[in-house]
Amino acid sequence: LPVLAIVGRPNVGKSALVNRILGRREAVVEDKPGVTRDRVAYKAEWNGRRFTLVDTGGWEPDAAGINAAVAAQAEVAIDLADVVLFVVDSNVGATATDEHVVKLLRRAKRPVFLAANKVDDVRQEPAASALWSLGLGEPYPVSALHGRGVADLLDLVMEKMPEVSAVAKQEVGGPRRVAILGRPNVGKSSLLNKAAGEERVVVNELAGTTRDPVDEQIELGGRVWTFVDTAGIRKRVHLQQGADFYASLRTSAALEKAEVAVVVFDVTEPISTQDLRIVDLVLESGRALVLAFNKWDMLDDDRRRYLEREIEQDLAHVTWAPRVNISARTGRHLEKLVPALELALDSWDTRIPTGKFNAFLAELTAAHPHPVRGGKQPRILFGTQAATRPPTFVLFTTGFLDPGYRRFVQRRLREIYGFEGTPIVVNMRVRE
Ligand code: GDP
Repeated sequence: LPVLAIVGRPNVGKSALVNRILGRREAVVEDKPGVTRDRVAYKAEWNGRRFTLVDTGGWEPDAAGINAAVAAQAEVAIDLADVVLFVVDSNVGATATDEHVVKLLRRAKRPVFLAANKVDDVRQEPAASALWSLGLGEPYPVSALHGRGVADLLDLVMEKMPEVSAVAKQEVGGPRRVAILGRPNVGKSSLLNKAAGEERVVVNELAGTTRDPVDEQIELGGRVWTFVDTAGIRKRVHLQQGADFYASLRTSAALEKAEVAVVVFDVTEPISTQDLRIVDLVLESGRALVLAFNKWDMLDDDRRRYLEREIEQDLAHVTWAPRVNISARTGRHLEKLVPALELALDSWDTRIPTGKFNAFLAELTAAHPHPVRGGKQPRILFGTQAATRPPTFVLFTTGFLDPGYRRFVQRRLREIYGFEGTPIVVNMRVRE
């Protein structure tokens, strides 16, 4: 989906605007600074068009960190968003931080809209007009809290939003899009450099591909791949505070642009919650997944035994993801990355014909009927695959299926069809 990013200083009303756009009343608005929110990307819809809303303000720095943090947010937005909505508090006016961000935003070749927030009634509109001085064009007076002006602004924003996302474009061919993810120092940029070698493609010559300056096209295993947000991988951002938030912002935004993610681990260190959080972001995004265990050249037998145990425990929920054990330094097994990516993407694209899927369901329910609960036994009437990327199934049932039974259906689907490297989704529709 195309991405709209919301950028602005702390307390200008970014979360209120996010809520307003998502059509919620309460939720994430806090007037307290210093609050970290986990969520970064939201599915949103306006006038029947869907897009991803990225809230860059989930982490609010204290006074000392404001410039660096807001600049980092702006940078992510510039690199990874299709349209940027820059929010200013019209009661405060343009601050030095705002002006700094504007300088960054003007370098972006992205449409930028200036929202002059907290214009709760018409008498405050002159304050919004004063923001012409920022040089970002027309300031749009809005009240995120009361909704005033937001709809009109969003109509304009949607006009600038690309019709189809980068991912949807893949349906008509072109290189497949890979995100290299992982916490700092696991070896992402080493991997990228080693993989690219001398083979970096002169990209303008590839007809019909969307080319983004933050992405890079690399030939691997005889075909060209787009590695998304390589700019983000190469950048070394040193933030005093909020580094984790910045990292997950980049991860979430890069996932929006990718079809498959390679999550890189450093085998010399224990698998951490940060590693697992990145895997979770991939699962939430519904992208295909490959696990790369890097620095294999440094692995001794002791550590290796621990690693196997950690993988068993911490990554039990993604045993279906292909694993490659590599060394970005020596080049060990890098050639195994391509078949792993291809396998994951094939699974991600898989469509099971309705007839076959129902034969599968009939066999499964005959051998293992749903347990009787409260005198009732929900039955699966039929099913269909509603979507690919990732494979998404709908079961039409006579009652709610136990979560355990749904997991069982998922397990059987994997046993029969593999689906290596892709999450699968099983939804239910209960027929009364
Ligand atoms: P990034 O932050 O994930 O991009 O990590 P870098 O690619 O910058 O790597 C971090 C450090 O790990 C650097 O000192 C690399 O030289 C080192 N490194 C990366 N891959 C390997 C590897 O396969 N083996 C060894 N021994 N060191 C590696």
